Amino acid sequence: RIRRLAARSEAGLGQPAAALFFRDLSDQRRLETMRVDFIANVSHELRTPLASLSGFIDTLKGPARDDAQARERFLDIMQAQAQRMTRLIDDLLQLSRVELKEHVPPSTPVDLGATVAHMVEIMAPLARERGVGLALEVPQEPVRILGDRDELLRLVENLVENAIKYGGSGKSVEIAVRRQGPGGTQGERVELSVRDHGPGIPPEHLPRLTERFYRVDVAESRIQGGTGLGLAIVKHIVGRHRGRLAIESEPGQGATFRALFPAAP
Ligand code: ADP
Repeated sequence: RIRRLAARSEAGLGQPAAALFFRDLSDQRRLETMRVDFIANVSHELRTPLASLSGFIDTLKGPARDDAQARERFLDIMQAQAQRMTRLIDDLLQLSRVELKEHVPPSTPVDLGATVAHMVEIMAPLARERGVGLALEVPQEPVRILGDRDELLRLVENLVENAIKYGGSGKSVEIAVRRQGPGGTQGERVELSVRDHGPGIPPEHLPRLTERFYRVDVAESRIQGGTGLGLAIVKHIVGRHRGRLAIESEPGQGATFRALFPAAP
């Protein structure tokens, strides 16, 4: 592209080519910075549990060798750290799979209402454990979009799990699938919304929330077993389904995540 633009410049096509040329270079630099940041983040996220594992192995081989109680406690912590690394690698693989397929829109009609209802059933035990009530509203008749069912299940799982984890115990989470009639240049659409009544998200964080490894509160995300990749995966799944993701939040009032998809013809 750069070579082509340089040729345009040489051919005397003037200013616009030069402007494009500089924009291309800065885009390239931004991509390179993103790639380096990503590798640094992944390394850091893996190194922390690994350092902890290696510390506990030293303790188990040394001072805690003959302390049965300490051994049990340390082994539990080590198991949790290993699970954390597994979750991170699973999320990284999922993210790269979705990114690879991003420009190939799925072509199978999927009933979004039934898919959401299925995932909400799977999430019910976690909600019960956290004292969160789940309310589901889906139309009686099928609501079809062109989709990949596994990806859509993952999308619902990430949003509902976040609402349960960050929405606060004793509160409710409302999940809805609604048809939207044609409007403007757009045909019929289907909206999925997940709403919680937790502390919400301060407005300055909203624009960066779907970036990989971006968290509002890193310590809280760790406690909740988060990887920081959930919403990045959500964004790519919505994009691949030619949908749009909107996040609204009023601090203290909770957060609403909406994904709007074109309805299947
Ligand atoms: P994580 O694995 O940390 O949960 P996500 O990508 O799913 O990563 O979310 C990124 C961050 O966005 C979370 O760490 C949390 O700070 C914030 N967040 C996500 N969902 C909610 C929500 N429903 N309410 C408040 N904060 C949220």
